[in-house]
Amino acid sequence: MAPVKPSGQYDFDLLVIGGGSGGLACAKEASSFGKQVVVLDFVIPSEKGTTWGIGGTCVNVGCIPKKLMHQASLLGESIQEARSYGWNIPDPISFNWESLVEAVQNHIKSVNWVTRVQLRDKKIEYVNGHGVFEDAHTVVAKMKNGKERRITAKDIVIAVGGRPRYPDFPGCKEYCITSDDLFSLPTSPGNTLVIGAGYIGLECAGFLKGLGYESTVMVRSMLLRGFDRGMVNLVQAEMEDKGVKFLIGKIPVKVSKQPNGKLLVEWKGDDGIGQGEFDTVLVATGRKALSEELNPSAAGLQVHPESFKFITNAEQTNIPNIYAVGDVLHERPELTPVAIQAGKLLAGRLYNGIQEQMDYDNVATTVFSPLEYGCVGLTEEDAINRYTENEIEVYHAYYKPTEFFIPQKNVKHCYLKVITLLKAPQKVLGMHFIGPQAGEVIQGYAAAIKAGLTYQHLKDTVGIHPTVSEEFTRVAITKRSGDDPTPQSCCS
Ligand code: FAD
Repeated sequence: MAPVKPSGQYDFDLLVIGGGSGGLACAKEASSFGKQVVVLDFVIPSEKGTTWGIGGTCVNVGCIPKKLMHQASLLGESIQEARSYGWNIPDPISFNWESLVEAVQNHIKSVNWVTRVQLRDKKIEYVNGHGVFEDAHTVVAKMKNGKERRITAKDIVIAVGGRPRYPDFPGCKEYCITSDDLFSLPTSPGNTLVIGAGYIGLECAGFLKGLGYESTVMVRSMLLRGFDRGMVNLVQAEMEDKGVKFLIGKIPVKVSKQPNGKLLVEWKGDDGIGQGEFDTVLVATGRKALSEELNPSAAGLQVHPESFKFITNAEQTNIPNIYAVGDVLHERPELTPVAIQAGKLLAGRLYNGIQEQMDYDNVATTVFSPLEYGCVGLTEEDAINRYTENEIEVYHAYYKPTEFFIPQKNVKHCYLKVITLLKAPQKVLGMHFIGPQAGEVIQGYAAAIKAGLTYQHLKDTVGIHPTVSEEFTRVAITKRSGDDPTPQSCCS
């Protein structure tokens, strides 16, 4: 369809600030309805000077390079296991960080290129400039060369995402890196301290250990805040078994460079002070929304006083023609598919008359720790808080993946849990799975939960044997019964 001219006095129908997951999805959808769209995307270099192309966090410094490095780590494990399956593999095997980074970066560059081609094909204008509000319909794009361009639009979508937050201690910005730098690090990270135990910190610590580097996680209070505590304990135990060290209840106070080039990290905790030497220190202590940098008050926009994120109603901010999607939304899951779905639906509502709203409930997610943890719905703690212990049932089981037997892999932490309402028909409230391919396992069950899954449906489902996912169709032991949830055999 040929684009129609924007109505009224504006340059464009839609201006999207941020060419990441949410912004691009919204822009492409809007252009498919014949709207004239411009996308601004600009990456301010990290403290270490790292920068990247269009596509946002997920493609450049998030999900994609993370998953590729996780896969590299799993492959190292598989090569070792292959010996017990009859493969002759030289001993020792070796790994080259520079080759991995080159392969990952080449893939990213190809995605950046495809994205630019898609925008051109869809006649969406791409401006590589940093957008700042002048008023509710005007944004000034500041280019790398210092030039400025004023752009007006009838509607504006904010999709600027966030960047890693640096904790405030001496030497932090000078010597530490963040996930923005890790995936393009030109030389191997060596012995690494990861400060922070959210999913990003744990995933990085996990794949670094799998690639052969010493890795230590420093955490102030708890790992994976917001996730099911019982499952998190198993994730931690598995990481410890794999050799990741944990410094729990510690906060960093200083990082300095030693004459030998190592980084000396000093910390304090309940048991006093401590220190250690590392080659790399990665801070992963949360992310900061890039809202303030937009000068939101110039457009009359309000942000939440603590998170500095936008509080929206159906993705609409307090200014009627300005919307927001993705990581920049207050109290919404910071996940790529969430940003994409919200962006697409918003464009559909604005320009194609659809009514469908974004549903932020029961969004499945996976922590790509060495043994992955996938989940959807409520944690056991949240289910107890929302209902009471007497109103819910928790089914659980340890299980033994068939492919773990021959290489005698650790099955101690392969575990799953289904949380249901106690009252018939026992609606499923949450599903949690630790094991191989956890994301693949949980995705289908997430669809089933959307469709009203009950415990009876699970029982009525015939499993696919031998898979790990079938364990959800066999789970029968309740926590309340106190019966032993460890498996007796694989096939009964
Ligand atoms: P972004 O993708 O961050 O895009 C925002 C874009 O806007 C960026 O390019 C930014 O530079 C640009 N920008 C900012 N301000 C301006 C401005 N003023 N003018 C112009 N441009 C601007 N999610 C998952 O679902 N699965 C995962 O496995 C996963 N792993 C992750 C691993 C890591 C290490 C990280 C950091 C994140 C991960 N995420 C994952 C989260 C996911 O990347 C984000 O939820 C997603 O990218 C958010 O999309 P967005 O559109 O809100 O913002």
